[in-house]
Amino acid sequence: MDSLSLDAPAPEAPAVANDNGVWLACIECGDAYAPFDEVRYTCDCGCLLEARYADLPTFEDFEGRGVWRYSAALPFDVGVTLPEGDTPLHRVPDLEDELGVEALRVKHEGMNPTGAFKDRGMTVGVRVAQELGVGRLACASTGNTSAALSAYGARANMETLVLLPAGKVAAGKVAQASLHGARILEVDGNFDTCLDIVQDLAESGDAYLLNSLNPFRLEGQKTIGLEILERFVDDYGAFPDRIVLPVGNAGNTAALYKCFRELVQSGALAKDDVPTLTGVQAEGAAPMVEAVQEGNDEVRRWDDVETRATAIRIGNPVNAPKALPGIRETGGTAVAVSDDEITRAQRDLAGEGVGVEPASAASLAGARKLRDEGVIEAGERVALLTTGHLLKDPDAAAAAGAEPESVPGTTEGVREHLAD
Ligand SMILES: *Cc1c(COP(=O)(O)O)cnc(C)c1O
Ligand SMILES: [Zn+2]
Repeated sequence: MDSLSLDAPAPEAPAVANDNGVWLACIECGDAYAPFDEVRYTCDCGCLLEARYADLPTFEDFEGRGVWRYSAALPFDVGVTLPEGDTPLHRVPDLEDELGVEALRVKHEGMNPTGAFKDRGMTVGVRVAQELGVGRLACASTGNTSAALSAYGARANMETLVLLPAGKVAAGKVAQASLHGARILEVDGNFDTCLDIVQDLAESGDAYLLNSLNPFRLEGQKTIGLEILERFVDDYGAFPDRIVLPVGNAGNTAALYKCFRELVQSGALAKDDVPTLTGVQAEGAAPMVEAVQEGNDEVRRWDDVETRATAIRIGNPVNAPKALPGIRETGGTAVAVSDDEITRAQRDLAGEGVGVEPASAASLAGARKLRDEGVIEAGERVALLTTGHLLKDPDAAAAAGAEPESVPGTTEGVREHLAD
């Protein structure tokens, strides 16, 4: 049976599992590896690895707050923490009315310590780096991964190297990486080129890779799903029907699906209650949407990508082999939206007091489109994932918002201006 199926039984621990019952397994050939004996990102067969556990948690196993509330679902009891997680699940009544669904909530991951969900992955990933005893951390990034890695690397007193596509990273994110003390390499190429290069560096042992190709990053990101599920049960007495999220490298899509799959395997979640995973990409960078709509098992790499939503300006989503089964097995779909639809959604979320960066607003833009098409039904309880904070990309926010007005430096002058 396909190990990524929702019907797959809970895995049996192989001999290489560590004392806590944790190991790495290939999602294609099933080969197992000890989790922390060596630096390893992929299987010898070349395919993606995922972390597996001898003991899978139920909701009763969770206590405390934030990412480490869910340590029963993670490889350690605690990580390098700032702390992260425990983000708000906003009510958005005007948008809920407009979409005409049973419930619409916004899980605002921009409220993490560095302003994006990447922190949830780094608190685990940098802990693993400590366990392995590596010297230098590295990532390729559209911005937020570099901001998070720089902060967590600083916290752990480790050297950090980040590769960014020159001229294509929002100002707030570069500022974060810079101040947290990362060495920043601006690459003449797009994100996918940066990732190719940093993978080569990781392969030759020059740095420990903390992109979402690293299976431990996704472990931390599973906790987004756990928080959404617990909160919906508290507020509605039921799990959400659907989670709509922006897709770049498809790490979150893969992580949410893994969260659900493990809960199904532990008996904590019925297969019928698994939320439908719905991915949104920008029209100018939509290889996952193409694969889902054409029913392909593999994603075709797009060499030329462009969108104002720079965080999802990605043409070669590395986690597609984990994410495509997630969308398929949960009965989900993927949809592309235009940059103008993204900006309108960013403005409308801001109109509810929720400030997000453009990539995050793609989730609302996509939900709108799917509601119009009747794919999302009136009876659904829907969670939108907003991945990063408004201040990450001040230029996009200023361009989407109102223009400041020049006035004289007198009360009278201001009164006259307001009266006009
Ligand atoms: C990283 C990022 C994404 C893409 O997430 P994936 O897990 O790579 O699909 C989306 N939005 C923001 C703001 C991000 O930083
Ligand atoms: Zn393999």
